[in-house]
This record gives sequence, structure tokens and C-alpha cells, in this order.
Amino acid sequence: MARVLTPPAANPQPPAVLRDAFGRVATDVRLSLTDRCTLRCTYCMPAEGLDWLHKNDRLSDDEIVHLASVFVGLGVRSFRITGGEPLVHKTVVDVVGRLTALAPRPELSLTTNGITLERLAGALVTAGLDRVNVSLDTLNRQHFAELTRRDRLPDVLAGIAAAEAAGLRPLKINSVLVRGGNIDEASALLEWALCRGYQLRFIEHMPLDADHIWSRAKMVTAEEILDLLQRDYVLDPRGHRGSAPAEEFDVLDGPGRDHWANSPGRVGVIASVTRPFCRDCDRLRLTADGQLRTCLFARAETDLRGPLRNGASDAELGEIIRLAVAGKQAGHGINNVDFVQPSRTMSAIGG
Ligand code: SAM
Repeated sequence: MARVLTPPAANPQPPAVLRDAFGRVATDVRLSLTDRCTLRCTYCMPAEGLDWLHKNDRLSDDEIVHLASVFVGLGVRSFRITGGEPLVHKTVVDVVGRLTALAPRPELSLTTNGITLERLAGALVTAGLDRVNVSLDTLNRQHFAELTRRDRLPDVLAGIAAAEAAGLRPLKINSVLVRGGNIDEASALLEWALCRGYQLRFIEHMPLDADHIWSRAKMVTAEEILDLLQRDYVLDPRGHRGSAPAEEFDVLDGPGRDHWANSPGRVGVIASVTRPFCRDCDRLRLTADGQLRTCLFARAETDLRGPLRNGASDAELGEIIRLAVAGKQAGHGINNVDFVQPSRTMSAIGG
């Protein structure tokens, strides 16, 4: 008798293995390839850089891909490659190719400062990269050099153009506004992004900087960002955002309207400090030295590198990950009186 074959589900649902005590299911992992960076953004890193991880302490590409395959087996469906600056990792293209070969194929995106994107965009797309976020805080070359301590704005703009030409869409641009730095450029950045069809997202400055310059009084809040934008633009909230960190708005009208590439345009605000979205968080982070973090602001980490190097089986690694996720804290606690900034910076965790 002929066997009746059931076709595989077109879009298999994750098995929801990584469920925490509050019912959240982790399906997205930020994978940091390196803690090193080519910029020294004043709100992130000191001018002299940080004490970089030793090569032996960083996960090898084989170890990264191995852990990623364990995550996929636990229901993770997307990875974002980050750092530090992930494009300084010499074999980043190879890593992208190996991650997209996992089954079921995860969605793969990358966050970069864009400096070497012009050279790498085509190869990253060929290797399977789905999307890219480029960080860009200003369009003014002098302000860029002051904010990042490197005169590299032309390289970043060339990188963005190359990513677009390579088909990496929708192209997202991340900006952090700093008082006394680029705060007056919110509208100009938005007009630039709208005219090119890019999705701009403003990120609130978070207490994750090496120099501990973050202050609640000085940070530019989501409310202030939206007030600044609404002096020039008509914004319409897009409503519930699921697990996405950005609160999104349709841009209905504003400067340069006739030249916008999309209608309506879109802008987002990631308000981690003033409008936390922990309740819907589906993210985990794996640092370049193999530590699992269930929250950007966690002060505890779970070591995966040690067990991996000591020969733990995939089932054992999975159990370590599952237990770590089960203990994920309810929220990041930035607004609690007893909040203590984590010892690792954003760049050392993987932003
Ligand atoms: N080098 C890559 C890049 O520039 O996108 C990836 C890593 S970087 C840490 C990721 C993002 O974090 C960038 O958009 C950067 O502006 C942002 N960032 C760094 N420190 C931050 C902080 N203390 N608060 C908020 N965002 C921060």
C-alpha cells in the first residue's frame, strides 16, 4: 500500500523550549563575534579602547556555529550578529554562510558601524545575510569625528550605499542622540533616511558605557526625541509591536515629502530606559567569550564556553541554556533604586 506523505509545514513553529518563568519564549539571539571596535563613540567607549579579550578566550568560529546549532534546536529562529564591530572579525562572511546553513534556516541580520561595509556587503549577501542595521548618529563630518573620535563618515555613507545596492532591505539606521552633541540633528537624520527609504530608529542612551557618563538627567528621552521630531513631522503610532524593541511611527508629512522613497515613511524609537519593553522580550545574548546573558542589563552570566570546551553534549548544553532562560529576570531594573550598571559595556556584551 502506498504511504501517504505529509508535506512539511511551510513555516514550522519553534518548539518553545526556552520559556522563562514569566511565559516569555526566547527565539532571538544576539551573537557577538568580537568586543573590538573601529570607532570610539564617546557614549560607549573610552578614547583608548578597552582591555580586549584574548584570542583564546574568544569563541572560535566552530564554537560559535556549534552553539548556534544548539540554540536552533531549542527553538531559536533568528540571530543578529554584532559586537564590538562584527565586520572586524576576519571570517565574518564565512560565519554568516555557516549560520544560514543551519536547519531550520534561521533569519540572519547584522549590526555594524558600516565602516567596512562597502567592501563586504556583496559577499555578506551572497553568504546569506538577510538584513543589516547600520549605526549612524550624525551626517555632519565634524560632529561624526567628535562623537566617534574617528573621521570616517564618508566610509560609513559608502557602506550604507553598498548595502542598499547589494539588496539588504529594509535598511535600518540606528542613532543615539547626545545632548551637546547631535541632539539638534534628529530631523535632518530623519529627512535623509526618508528620502532614501531607510528605517531610522533612535535609541535612548543606556547605562552601559565604559566611562559611566550616562545620567538620567542628561540622557535624551524618547519623549524628547518625539517632541523634537514632531516640530517638523506628522507621526502616527503604528500600535502594538510584538517583541520588537522599537516603538514605530508612520511619518505622514514633513520636510522633503515629495522626495521620500516610501509613503508613508517610518521612524522608530527604542526607549529601553523610559518605556521598557521587557514584558515582550524574546532575546538572549551570547558574548564573544561564550557567556550567555538573558538581559542586556543582567549582572549574572552563564558560561557556555567552559562546558563546550570540556566536551558537554548538545543535550547538556541545551539544559544549561534552558535553565538560564528559566531564571531570566522579569525586567532590566534600570528604574529601580537599587539598579547597578553591569560591569560589561554595550560593546563587550554585544549591542
Ligand atoms: N559596532 C556595531 C555598531 O556600531 O552598530 C555593533 C555594536 S554597537 C555596541 C550597537 C549599537 O549600540 C550602536 O548603534 C551603538 O550606537 C549603540 N550603543 C553603544 N553604546 C550605547 C549605550 N550606552 N546606549 C545606547 N546605545 C548604545
